[in-house]
Amino acid sequence: MSAATSTVVRVALPVPMPRLFDYLAEAGAEDVGRCVRVPFGRDEKLGVILAVGVESDLAPERLRPVIALRRDLPPLPADWLALVGFAAAYYHAPIGEVVALALPPGVRRASAFTPAEADPFVAVSQAGRAVLDEGRSGRTRAFVATLATAGSLRRARARELPDGDKLAEAMRRGWVERVAAPGAVHAGGAAPTATDDQRAAIDAVTERLETFDCWLLQGVTGSGKTEVYLRLAERALEAGRQVLMLVPEIALTPQLEGRVAARFPNAAVVSLHSAQAEGARAAGFVEALAGRADIVLGTRLAVFTPLPRLGLILLDEEHDASYKQQEGVRYSARDLAVWRARDRGVPVVLGSATPSLESWEHARRARYRHLRLDARAAAAALPAVRSVDTRRLRLDEGLSPALLDALGQRLTRGEQSLVFLNRRGYAPVLSCTSCGWISGCPHCSANLVVHLAERRMRCHHCGTDASIPAACPSCGDQDIRPFGRGTQRVEQRLVELFPAARVLRVDRDAARTRPQWEALLARIAAGEADILVGTQMMAKGHDFPQLTLVGVIGADASLHAADFRAPERLFQQLMQVGGRAGRAQLAGEVLIQTEFPEHPLYRHLARHDFDGFAARELDERRVAGFPPYSHQAMLRADAPQLDEAQRFLEHARDIANDIAPEGLRVFDVVPMRMTRLARRERAQLLVEADQRALLQRFIGKWLEVLRAQRVPRSLRWQLDVDPLEV
Ligand code: ADP
Ligand code: ZN
Ligand code: ZN
Repeated sequence: MSAATSTVVRVALPVPMPRLFDYLAEAGAEDVGRCVRVPFGRDEKLGVILAVGVESDLAPERLRPVIALRRDLPPLPADWLALVGFAAAYYHAPIGEVVALALPPGVRRASAFTPAEADPFVAVSQAGRAVLDEGRSGRTRAFVATLATAGSLRRARARELPDGDKLAEAMRRGWVERVAAPGAVHAGGAAPTATDDQRAAIDAVTERLETFDCWLLQGVTGSGKTEVYLRLAERALEAGRQVLMLVPEIALTPQLEGRVAARFPNAAVVSLHSAQAEGARAAGFVEALAGRADIVLGTRLAVFTPLPRLGLILLDEEHDASYKQQEGVRYSARDLAVWRARDRGVPVVLGSATPSLESWEHARRARYRHLRLDARAAAAALPAVRSVDTRRLRLDEGLSPALLDALGQRLTRGEQSLVFLNRRGYAPVLSCTSCGWISGCPHCSANLVVHLAERRMRCHHCGTDASIPAACPSCGDQDIRPFGRGTQRVEQRLVELFPAARVLRVDRDAARTRPQWEALLARIAAGEADILVGTQMMAKGHDFPQLTLVGVIGADASLHAADFRAPERLFQQLMQVGGRAGRAQLAGEVLIQTEFPEHPLYRHLARHDFDGFAARELDERRVAGFPPYSHQAMLRADAPQLDEAQRFLEHARDIANDIAPEGLRVFDVVPMRMTRLARRERAQLLVEADQRALLQRFIGKWLEVLRAQRVPRSLRWQLDVDPLEV
């Protein structure tokens, strides 16, 4: 350690300004990465030291001393600073905003951080072994014998062993002692014998565990991708490394947390997600930073977890849009995970049954290494997928005779069915039959959705909530009706049609909280429901062993959407939801109701042909010049009046045209598809280039000019690099 003398430290603070701040501190080179509390105006803030001993542009007498160097926390490692720096540069976000994103609020707010005492490892001591050799009896001895076979375990886990209540007694007698963390964490629990495909994937990655590669693990639903992740995690843990495992929405994956904990009983597993209490998240972050956490399981924000022993990154459902943050710093956790793995020289495995076309294209061109699991692991066949042509059919609340028939068959056989409809509520709109009034949201360009059960109308975008009027607010006529249908309406009709069946609705209204969602899952698993009516919540990776039929209704609406990514999303969603059918020993069937049975998307789906679909979509994108064959950034602006937002963007467009290098395309300013949201009018401006580097250089210059513009206080603007919605 160099002697600490008063010197200038350069600090990143969580403020929306693209600059750093200088202070005085008793600090040395070893304090780079250290958290520091500093005065800021009349306030205090917690930031991170990025450099020590710099020459400040400020006059020495204007430099203020720091309030406290947070020596209770280990410094953030250099690679963490590099990651934050890269994210700030790539997404053109102020470094302080990225720091604010990456440092959990609980860490920033606490004035001192004393993490809860880590759960230490315990094992049988020499004295304990001697006792076992003597062959004494008793419960404490029985416990020591059990622990001896288990090796070293976390204390909390040891307590869960048979006779675990004797742990304290055994420690008091000196038969069990605290030990240093074992170099290797061992897998426990029963692991199935890997299939040949799984084995090939595991071996391929294991052989290159010491180097960066981006692996695309493309495996059909039920092919055992999770099993591959667990085996690879085991290898990394054996090598004494930490594993970062990212999932789209942790609230939807309690099963995964359970599987990880069961497989690694003596590993320290930390969960990190935004729905967590501030203290728990901060504690998890510090456990990881101190190198004590072995496995970090988290959502997109966990990509910023400091991991000094990082050895492997696993990212499940890599195509999922929730890896992209859609507000504030608009980053992609998937793309940052790949960057981080490369920077650290460790493998990253992206897994999906339906990869994003970007990743699939990388794999096709051998920039990513392609691993495939084409068959289901537990001998179950993929479901039979059929289209039901609804053009000449009379539908009963959207349900075709073929689907009703199939539902009836499942009921007689005692199997479960799912009717999939990605629209919650009773009906998407209420309308007056005599004057044509519709229930529009007063604050958005969207309609108020009818929730008949609660007798409310709600905007799903801004949350506006109103009671259902008794008569038309416009003409007074009482004949106002819900038009179209959502999950509640289908649920209601199914209850009428199948009075003996137990119908269960599974959507955001039925599962608002994680405990509610877990309770629903438990009821489904216990066979307490015959027919499920669900939204995309049902599409995420759950096993429902008794589910043998999936009926899809209302999918055509996305077939002809304006967004060029709409077909990709629809295909992914249908393949995922179809994958819920027929997992265990029971064959599955998927019925897709459509007016376009010949549409190539449905034909590829019926053949489980993701590759065919992907190749075809990519051909179309190449012709149209869409990503991944071009790179995009979207400048968005919103204001109380549309013309205010548009005027700003038109000005930005003029600037862009002035400085645009050859090869950069600047499009027209257009209102966003949903123009009005929560009383603000929104417009956007797309810029595009074939080369990422060219686009990046341009954005740097463009933003410099834009940030110097004076704009009215009522106007807000943001840039979105690699936007998912255009
Ligand atoms: P995915 O993540 O690809 O959808 P999972 O890993 O969840 O698939 O596996 C699907 C089912 O198959 C699970 O019930 C899992 O326990 C089982 N399974 C996975 N691998 C094997 C295997 N090698 N042998 C037997 N069953 C397996
Ligand atoms: Zn009316
Ligand atoms: Zn609204």
